[in-house]
Amino acid sequence: MLAESGRSVGELLAELAGMKAADLPVRGGKVTAYVYDTGRPEVHAAAQAAYAEMLEVNMLDPTAFPSMVALEKQVVGAVAELLGEPAAPGVFTSGGTESIMLAVKAARDARGVAGAQIVVPVTAHPAFHKAAHYLGLEVVAVPVDLESFQVSPAAVAEAITDRTVLVVASAPSYPQGVIDPVAEVAAVAAARGVFCHVDACVGGWLLPWLREAGAEVPPFDLRVPGVTSISCDLHKFGYAPKGASVVLFKDAGLRRKAYFASAAWPGYTIINSTVQSSRSAGPLGGAWATLGALGREGYRELGRQTLEATRLLVDGVRAIPGLRVLGEPAASLVAIAGSPEVDVFVLADEARRLGWFLQPQLSYAGIPANIHITVTGVTLQGVGEMLDVIAKAAEAARDRGPAVVPEGLPELIAGLDLDALDDATFVELAASVGIDLRSREQPEMAAVNAVLDALPAATREAILVRFLSVIYS
Ligand SMILES: *Cc1c(COP(=O)(O)O)cnc(C)c1O
Repeated sequence: MLAESGRSVGELLAELAGMKAADLPVRGGKVTAYVYDTGRPEVHAAAQAAYAEMLEVNMLDPTAFPSMVALEKQVVGAVAELLGEPAAPGVFTSGGTESIMLAVKAARDARGVAGAQIVVPVTAHPAFHKAAHYLGLEVVAVPVDLESFQVSPAAVAEAITDRTVLVVASAPSYPQGVIDPVAEVAAVAAARGVFCHVDACVGGWLLPWLREAGAEVPPFDLRVPGVTSISCDLHKFGYAPKGASVVLFKDAGLRRKAYFASAAWPGYTIINSTVQSSRSAGPLGGAWATLGALGREGYRELGRQTLEATRLLVDGVRAIPGLRVLGEPAASLVAIAGSPEVDVFVLADEARRLGWFLQPQLSYAGIPANIHITVTGVTLQGVGEMLDVIAKAAEAARDRGPAVVPEGLPELIAGLDLDALDDATFVELAASVGIDLRSREQPEMAAVNAVLDALPAATREAILVRFLSVIYS
């Protein structure tokens, strides 16, 4: 792949543009997950310029590049101020997963018990499972109420043991966009002397602006007694380029437990605040510039638009036959379930045909399959069209009928020793049931999702790993 002689920037960018042709658009609001568009190109341009300015600064050594310390203090300080504790210590990280990883590490190292456990609602982000997996902890999952999709503080209390190091509440949880009873969960944790992390990755930089726009938002941040850490992604509703999140701690002692230092080699001394060591300050520059380009007024206006668009979407979806909104969305994340007549996976494929990406979510822990829409600042401009597309796609899904899972296939897959199959055999197996993993065309995802939906979580995970391996082979 590596060319013998170097190529011009024009040539390289032309090739990039070609490769990106099949990507989903990152602007415009027709992709209702993954990307966050302000609808203001000048804000994204400011982020891009500052990102490039900081691109080659290495965050490995704060004494070598004091600019990045100053920037990080400002960005962390802005999050701490918005979340009510302006002096709260924090760390700028690459994303929600890394923020959560650090909060879990801090709790583990501060408690220092053998066989440590974390108590996590089933609706909490998989980043907690990933942190537990990487850090050698055990996850104790707690169910949620199947009407409100909130975790019950009593169930959390029951799950706490002498080995629990951390309890988690989400504000809001991603799947249904509802806020766990943070005050009660934190009180239950505090009563047992256990740390409590609020996952406000998606809500931390959103809920305060929605509150200003008139939404009812219960207390969820570090001001709530018992809350000891909180994560807030700037690359979501901060609208910063990817690679930007902040984790805040109750005090500097707990933050130090997130840090890592090593002098156990004959090279330069290592002091890391994050999982990564050498890393670009580009994302930090991008986040800093986005905050600066929007200011309080900009976020307030985006919050107002987001709230209005969410209300229009929720009311509109409630009027479409065969669809229902799960729970009462407390922020701007909306989960839409179907019915026996309207299969949401087919609906998502039909919407894709109309140029819109709606994110499918599989059934889990008694929660039905649904499609997820993250409403952002730009959504309001096109919310009428979005509702038309959902209504049309629902009608088309009704006409087509539900995706059919071949008889006996889930049992067959669940019984396979997936580790014993090589990737080529896996591809053939998928082809034999009509799923072409090698095709360059956008696949019919409904069939894939229906099969996955019929499988237990552990088998889904094994299949997903195979799928990734095939994509990259
Ligand atoms: C997005 C999200 C995360 C994980 O964030 P990444 O930035 O994708 O690593 C964690 N928790 C919640 C609630 C989220 O919405």
